[in-house]
Amino acid sequence: MIFCINSLFLGSKYTLNIKTMAHLRFNALNLVQNRKKVDIQAPSKRISDYFGEMAFGQEQMKSTLSPEVYKRVADAIKNRKKIDLDTADAIAAAVKNWALERGVTHYTHWFQPLTGATAEKHDSFFDPQKGLENFRAEELVQQEPDASSFPNGGIRSTFEARGYTAWDPGSPIFIYGKTLCIPTIFVAFTGEALDYKAPLLKALDAVDRASVKVCKLFDRNISKVNASLGWEQEYFLVDKALYAARPDLVMGGRTVFGHNPARGQQLDDHYFGSIPTRIYDYMKDYEIEAHRLGIPLMTRHNEVAPGQYEAAPMFGPVNESTDQNQLLKDVMDKVANKHGLKVLFHEKPFAGLNGSGKHNNWSLVTDTGVNLFQPSSSARDNLLFLTFFVTTIKAVYEHADLLRSSIASAGNDHRLGANEAPPAIISVFIGSTLSGVLDQLEKSGDVMVEKGDNLYMKLGIDQIPEIILDNTDRNRTSPFAFTGNKFEFRAVGSDTNVSFPMTVLNLIVAEQLSDFYSKVTKLIDGGKDRRLAIIDVLRDYIKTSKNIRFEGDGYSDEWVKEAEKRGLSNVKDTPRALDFSVSDQAVKLYEKHKVLTKIEIDARHEIKLENYIMKVQIESRVMADLGLNHIIPTATKYQTKLIENAKGLVDLGIDASEIKKTIEDVSTHINTVKKLSHEMTEERKRINKIEDTRERAIEYCDNIRNKYFDDLRYAVDKLELLVDDEDWPLVKYRELLFLR
Ligand code: ADP
Ligand code: MG
Repeated sequence: MIFCINSLFLGSKYTLNIKTMAHLRFNALNLVQNRKKVDIQAPSKRISDYFGEMAFGQEQMKSTLSPEVYKRVADAIKNRKKIDLDTADAIAAAVKNWALERGVTHYTHWFQPLTGATAEKHDSFFDPQKGLENFRAEELVQQEPDASSFPNGGIRSTFEARGYTAWDPGSPIFIYGKTLCIPTIFVAFTGEALDYKAPLLKALDAVDRASVKVCKLFDRNISKVNASLGWEQEYFLVDKALYAARPDLVMGGRTVFGHNPARGQQLDDHYFGSIPTRIYDYMKDYEIEAHRLGIPLMTRHNEVAPGQYEAAPMFGPVNESTDQNQLLKDVMDKVANKHGLKVLFHEKPFAGLNGSGKHNNWSLVTDTGVNLFQPSSSARDNLLFLTFFVTTIKAVYEHADLLRSSIASAGNDHRLGANEAPPAIISVFIGSTLSGVLDQLEKSGDVMVEKGDNLYMKLGIDQIPEIILDNTDRNRTSPFAFTGNKFEFRAVGSDTNVSFPMTVLNLIVAEQLSDFYSKVTKLIDGGKDRRLAIIDVLRDYIKTSKNIRFEGDGYSDEWVKEAEKRGLSNVKDTPRALDFSVSDQAVKLYEKHKVLTKIEIDARHEIKLENYIMKVQIESRVMADLGLNHIIPTATKYQTKLIENAKGLVDLGIDASEIKKTIEDVSTHINTVKKLSHEMTEERKRINKIEDTRERAIEYCDNIRNKYFDDLRYAVDKLELLVDDEDWPLVKYRELLFLR
């Protein structure tokens, strides 16, 4: 394996003298020293000159389609309606010309299967039979990829159904390399969704419908509400050669061994520090690609851990922003290669350092341009703000477990509750100002109908200051925080496809808004004043959802105890967290809003469990392989040297007791590695025979991961400290993190 990785990543001229992993390590270190600066060329000095040039967005449509066709498309996009075949034909012709002019030869339906990545199958525009480039509505709108190799959680085997992809006009078509990519959903012929996008679109419709109903209690002119998303993507960068010399990173994206470097993140000097030149060049380069694709990247900076960074775009419609996140990850990976770098999206690539998350900033915006989470200086508007604000808190309270399950993954398990990321306990932070407002509203007695703004004054909601976005009002430890004019779902993992957490969040808010609407209208029908009815329901929501609100330090042990007293769940591992995704409550909710059917829910559950098992299994195998085949032989060789040395000392009559102690230590750790690796392998054999997927996943969690990983790592990391650096086979943390 060493040699194949070596020639793949390091270039053949280094192959000859590499016989051991230690050689591989030192060659990699040598390569890092000799990296050349990569030339970066933007198409123009101004981003606005090339922004979106590779995306067939509204502007391109407007300039290439007839006004009549454009109007129909724009209308279909706005209202998420189907596009008729004639319109699709006109678009197909325009897209084809646009693509051919840019040297594109192939097209693909681009979709998000349940693997969590994206998938594509390229077809040529060229039709050999006709001898010309061909692309019609049929090819644009629907395709049948050979879907047999995508995970379906048993759906297709049960139904003998094939899958097809269908165009999602809400997300722009784009050119990637020399391929035209058409964003699509992916469904079985029997109708079940086989991807992340289809349910997301349904949840967005649900939250739109429910929001509009509620908005109409305030403003009859509102006819559409869009959910917006702005993600903050964290990632690590390591040199490509160093990466290639770490089989654990290559296989599982995470280092399973590695002693903490003398200097980690304790100095706190990396965060917002100046960006190293090589990294800066890389960032500029992928930003150029992203901007050409219409991904509106705005910010870049260092993160807390050494080698960790963040990128964030301007927010946009959830489905578009979701696609952009998936696409950006791909762009970042490709561009990194050019710079001799490897980008790591794993939630916890390095022990002892912060992991990577992906904050999901989320808000609801009306077609009249109002952000429903923006407090206002107008008393009247504040009741609308409070309605959506309180209803969202109540939604999170009612469905905290489902929200927790939406971000569960083997990688994220290392992060949640690891004293550096939001805990696995879902809670909501709203800041002291708004806590005060809600407390007052809760305590205010029965109010009478009052004219104009008097009512709001009595309730203390006549003026809610526009929250100043300063750091004092920020609580970085909360998994779900209100940050001025949006909620920020922070517990999402860096590698997670945000479609699923966004599906769940929008769905639970849709449900709560429906509940709110029916309760309010009932009161109004019973003769109650509209505003008083709204306040009544809000007051009830505030009272009943109080337990989910937490303003303190989410990383503290006190919070864990307190949360338990409050009856909040704290499920730390994926197999158990996923139970919530198939609970009766969840199924009822999904089915009521027609977002997922029971069959689809079960299929997704199965896929996520399988995925968990695979990840832990791979890590476990890599650990045993490295331990037995590389660490032990290296340590044994070193031990032999020590023994010779000790004997020599004794021959000379010199005290050898210190060396002897070291030999004993090395022996102890070698024995531990050997014993645990063998035991763990036997355990895997036993567990693999378990038929039930959930049970198998739980066994992998409890009896592989939790039982062996820490102890194995401890022994290997101790050996790293004892064995001669020259012989050590694994690239060390200090090298991975600080060399660039
Ligand atoms: P932070 O201080 O948490 O880094 P930023 O102000 O940099 O916050 O914003 C982070 C992300 O939030 C960006 O992607 C930004 O576009 C997005 N964002 C800002 N306002 C909204 C909003 N109203 N709705 C959704 N996302 C938003
Ligand atoms: Mg943030």
